[in-house]
Amino acid sequence: MPAVTDPSDAVSNLLADLASGKVEIVDLTQPLSESSPVMRVPEPFVNAIGLKMTELSHFDERGPRWRWNHLELSEHVGTHLDAPMHWISGQGGDDVASVPLPRLVGPAVVIDRTAQVEENPDYLLTIEDVREFEAAHGALPEGGWLLYRTGWDSRVHDVGAFLNNASGSARTPGIAPECAKWLAQETGIVGIGVQTVGTDAGASPTFDPPTPVHYYMHGANKYGVTQLTNLDKVPPTGALIVVAPLRLVGGTGSPARVMAFVPTK
Ligand code: MN
Repeated sequence: MPAVTDPSDAVSNLLADLASGKVEIVDLTQPLSESSPVMRVPEPFVNAIGLKMTELSHFDERGPRWRWNHLELSEHVGTHLDAPMHWISGQGGDDVASVPLPRLVGPAVVIDRTAQVEENPDYLLTIEDVREFEAAHGALPEGGWLLYRTGWDSRVHDVGAFLNNASGSARTPGIAPECAKWLAQETGIVGIGVQTVGTDAGASPTFDPPTPVHYYMHGANKYGVTQLTNLDKVPPTGALIVVAPLRLVGGTGSPARVMAFVPTK
């Protein structure tokens, strides 16, 4: 790759690489619809509704030249960002409107534990897993995102299999508490992206502390993104991620369009 000699060339170089196919944009976002899976919390807590779309007009007497819809939308539905203020440990942290854009655009690394999760749906990522990745691929990037590939996106068309909670408690992969604490407090990453309905393991309400990814990441004013797809098309290192939530004032989270700029050669 030719060196960028003039900073003003950086964007035109990227545009040229996109046009020539040397860089491609991979959509990491699940399609958002009324059938998108939504996290369930146990009674007596209040659950989110997900997405409801109501037609306002469709080239008819309600609007003869236009078609549009009204949305009833949970903040935490589909592929979405969790803002720090979402969690008790992040009170006083950023709402989704205040998250600085440079924190939502940065280097991404992908740690693949698909094989382990196939064997064990309760698999938890460990510090040793991340250290092993770093030994092969270098340190986690400052200001970057750790994308945790589990293959769970293959279940998204079957809500029962995706939530995997038929027994009454969810069995989905996540991150071990000590690893979540270490990632939040000892590494330079600003966000964790997962393929499951939430950033924490299904069994995480029983962990100490409960839901440790939420607890430690948001406590460190960092972020989570859920329900990613196409992580098989992103290399272990070398991609640029863009996380684009709504700029929702007071919002604790938002559905987001998430994409990766990936070098192809
Ligand atoms: Mn959420």
